[in-house]
Amino acid sequence: MSDLGSAALPMSQGTFEQLWCDIGSDMGFNHLIAELPRADSDAWLTAALPNGTFTESFELELAEIAESAALSAEISPSSDSMPPPAAVVPSTNDYPGEYAFRLRFNQSSTAKSAISTYSTQLNKLYCQLAKTCPVDVMVEKEPPQGAVLRAMAIYKKPEHVSEVVLRCPHHQNIAENNEGVAHRSHLIRVEGSQRAQYLEDSRTKRQSVAVPYESPQLGSEGTTVLLNYMCNSSCMGGMNRRPILTIMTLETHDGQVLGRRCFEVRVCACPGRDRKTEEENLGKNTVKTASGTKRKSSFVDLKSTTLNAESSSSKKIKMDSSGEEEIFILHVRGKDRYNMLKKINDSLELMDAMTAAEKDKYKQKCASKSVQPIPGKRLLLRDDKTDTD
Ligand SMILES: [Zn+2]
Repeated sequence: MSDLGSAALPMSQGTFEQLWCDIGSDMGFNHLIAELPRADSDAWLTAALPNGTFTESFELELAEIAESAALSAEISPSSDSMPPPAAVVPSTNDYPGEYAFRLRFNQSSTAKSAISTYSTQLNKLYCQLAKTCPVDVMVEKEPPQGAVLRAMAIYKKPEHVSEVVLRCPHHQNIAENNEGVAHRSHLIRVEGSQRAQYLEDSRTKRQSVAVPYESPQLGSEGTTVLLNYMCNSSCMGGMNRRPILTIMTLETHDGQVLGRRCFEVRVCACPGRDRKTEEENLGKNTVKTASGTKRKSSFVDLKSTTLNAESSSSKKIKMDSSGEEEIFILHVRGKDRYNMLKKINDSLELMDAMTAAEKDKYKQKCASKSVQPIPGKRLLLRDDKTDTD
């Protein structure tokens, strides 16, 4: 196990920068970067493209699958020398087809404790890292024998869509140490099914997970599939705050699409809170465009969220038109202040990249190590402060 818990972290001295570096090397980031075929600095972000070492096992897997004659129509196991992805972009249009294929999500709340929740308004699933997300699959007539359900992730925005969605190097590494190499890079897993197959298209390198379609049990309208998302949306070197869609398809055994449904996904620490915030923002935008008389007040509302960025002679660059992961640039006077703010930002990023289990371990470690306040501890704990002690 090489995660935050077992790594010997320099808790009581070092700065966050140091901490970050140490963790980086403990996690094997450096090793991973060295493995990559590219030498430029983009390597980090395009760690996404698995044309390096770890495709081999997939090719093997694919060969086995092809032999067993399942799901293999569009997968040929022999194309190491094919050019990398780009061109083929899977469709994201909903298509109920003749089986009236559709999905249904839990009627879950926006309570703070919710581990997964779905917004009908936004057609968006919010869930925590590696937690169970039940999705009911419904059809109006029985699909042909051997039909399969496939789930695939794709970036939502045109500027990212050609890039394959993969787990970040950090989580891939943990998976490799704990579970071996197989499908460690897959973002989406199906929980509780021995028959789940993890596939990678040899042409596009896009990864998906497929399970045989099962008819609903007596008395049920649909068949429940349990999805797990194995990275946070914010994971550096992975999704990196870029929104994704999940494409669910009902297919014949040879890969012919019978029905398709898409929904957006955000993997985050507080699904309930984020859904509430985003639904409220949507409400504001709707008011603003729908009614001329309300325009002024909602304009002020929207403005106030960016107020401190703009009022202190700093410049905002809007990277994301949906507004959910906007990136702001802050102009800071003086190197000391800059370093201080950078440390805060780095630690927040680090915190986002940690799983709940890692945070717990870290907290335990802090608690057992020292009674003195540790630099950075407050930041890491702020999200879930308790009244203990
Ligand atoms: Zn990750």
